Amino acid sequence: MRRLERWIITGISLVFLTSIFLYVRTGEEKSAGEEAQVASETRTQFPLVEVKEVIPDIILDIRYATADNFTGKVLYPSADCFLLEEAALALKAVQDDLKEQGFRLKIYDGYRPFSVQKKMWEVMPNPNYVADPQKGSMHNRGCAVDVGLADMEGRDVEMPTEFDNFTEKAHRDYQHLTADAIAHRRILKEAMERRGFASIRTEWWHFSFKASQNKPVLNIPFEAVKSVVPGRN
Ligand SMILES: [Zn+2]
Repeated sequence: MRRLERWIITGISLVFLTSIFLYVRTGEEKSAGEEAQVASETRTQFPLVEVKEVIPDIILDIRYATADNFTGKVLYPSADCFLLEEAALALKAVQDDLKEQGFRLKIYDGYRPFSVQKKMWEVMPNPNYVADPQKGSMHNRGCAVDVGLADMEGRDVEMPTEFDNFTEKAHRDYQHLTADAIAHRRILKEAMERRGFASIRTEWWHFSFKASQNKPVLNIPFEAVKSVVPGRN
């Protein structure tokens, strides 16, 4: 009799433990599946892409990730370039066009979180060079890019000035330059305009993708972008 009782108790315990195990396992699988779905939906809806993913042979020289910029401060935690997907795809078309002429694009800046815009405005409150945070920059919308030209080996070619030169020498109509600098400035502008980018009067390197200019200002930090955008890291 005692042996039978023991068998019954063992049997009941086994059934109980198995059902708990199955219940917990099913729950875990379900939540992992839900998480994966949320992550993939976030990626689909997320507005920014990593430019290096879209254009692997582009050259990055992200100055605001170093102190080598007009503020003298490191403003980005990593030397990455993000843009709205439509702008990144248009930029890829520019790079393909330029390669046929023996040039590659070199990027100095792309998407810029709004919090960084405010820091720049504190240093340079001049709307000719830094967009007033009241309006927000096209860089904050993920549709502006600061670019120069390099040759096929990645060496800089002569441009009117270095990046972020805030003098009239960087103005689009400035003419007291070498023939090479004028030619490269024109080649860059024509290539960008052909694919839907607009230039501005005061900076030869700045272009914004016209179709995206009404998009909202974003203040997503680089760290958060990198956690969503599938990247190299
Ligand atoms: Zn710019």
